[in-house]
Amino acid sequence: TYILGIETSCDETSAAVVQDGRVVLSNVIASQADIHKRFGGVVPEVASRRHVENITLTIEEALTRAGRTLDDIHAIAVTYGPGLVGALLVGVAAAKAISFARGIPLIGVHHIAGHIYANRLVEEMRFPLVALVVSGGHTELVLMKAHGEYEILGETRDDAAGEAYDKVARALKLPYPGGPHIDRLAREGEPRVPLPRAWLEPDSYDFSFSGLKSAVLNTLHNASQRGETIDPADLAASFQDSVTEVLVEKTIRAAREYGARQVLLAGGVAANRGLRERLQQRCEAEGVALVIPPLSLCTDNAAMIAAAGYIHYQKGQFAGLDLNGVPGLPLS
Ligand code: ATP
Ligand code: MG
Ligand code: FE
Repeated sequence: TYILGIETSCDETSAAVVQDGRVVLSNVIASQADIHKRFGGVVPEVASRRHVENITLTIEEALTRAGRTLDDIHAIAVTYGPGLVGALLVGVAAAKAISFARGIPLIGVHHIAGHIYANRLVEEMRFPLVALVVSGGHTELVLMKAHGEYEILGETRDDAAGEAYDKVARALKLPYPGGPHIDRLAREGEPRVPLPRAWLEPDSYDFSFSGLKSAVLNTLHNASQRGETIDPADLAASFQDSVTEVLVEKTIRAAREYGARQVLLAGGVAANRGLRERLQQRCEAEGVALVIPPLSLCTDNAAMIAAAGYIHYQKGQFAGLDLNGVPGLPLS
């Protein structure tokens, strides 16, 4: 079974062909990161326009690289939320147009389900599993007992993990997106700056990063008031230590409570080396298997959307031509 995946929820225009939800035949990603860099964030109108310019060629390129034509495609899976509404609409409109013109079944996919299913392109899923989704817009701990079934155990009450990274990076005058820069800087420092850990209520799986972000800003501010300097590498290391400790310990607690056979890591922040190493160590100590997709499958891409769409295909869950972009689409 060949699924054509389409993803345009944020600033990546992507199309992919995936076989049986497991094998990536192509995964073309046209990133707009360079365009948005000078604005220090994604500009929605600019993103939509670029998607319109790129979408047709990106889909053609995905088919070509896969050595397939639309005649071979069994279904088209497209992200219909959550995301920027104008950006989502470009992918949804393209998918509907092809579906209608060629009589190919249409499937609507949740973006976060896509991030989770990126893991299935690496290893078969074993249930129950706990997935930690950490990206620019999301921080979610998800329990899955079967394919396509998602139970949100916890989520962020304020900033997403990636957002916190980007804001702290901005305070340290690092370029956007700041996550990778903090990660690199953290390697050169020691976590000796005292910063809080937001554990919240003892039984909570929710997250909060805005207090930590404020603590970093206050630390910088107070130091400059006193005419002192703080080693940015130490500050980055301390921030990273706080973020990864909370993310990892809550994930491990959930894995234990629900008897998880697997822990999955997903989303752009899964690129973080501090997080990968810490989660690896803790999962080994707990004796639970850990799956982390390669970086190219952690950030936004259409192969993960096709992989998640394959589950809908198997269950016969298809969308009508009234499919619409839903910016705040819930996962469960
Ligand atoms: P969403 O998936 O929630 O819609 P998004 O698509 O913008 O959001 P991704 O593309 O999955 O998010 O991830 C981008 C985020 O990942 C950015 O905030 C970026 O700073 C962060 N990030 C990337 N690499 C690293 C890293 N090595 N360490 C920490 N954060 C990182
Ligand atoms: Mg992105
Ligand atoms: Fe994403």
